[in-house]
Amino acid sequence: MPRKLKPKLCSCGCGRYTKGGHFIPGHDSRVYSAIIERVGDIRNLREVVEQYTGKKIEVEKGTIH
Ligand SMILES: [Zn+2]
Repeated sequence: MPRKLKPKLCSCGCGRYTKGGHFIPGHDSRVYSAIIERVGDIRNLREVVEQYTGKKIEVEKGTIH
């Protein structure tokens, strides 16, 4: 039975409605860019998240090429 998706306000804050997800397609990367801009770069973001969660972020070693 198909479930009807409820429109939700886009989580980026643009005020538009999604088709049921958290973001309008592409708007999640707008948030990502804004976060990176705020913290400086991905190393700072990692530090912030590690402090917030109290855990080190482990990078999968198998994926290094
Ligand atoms: Zn949006």
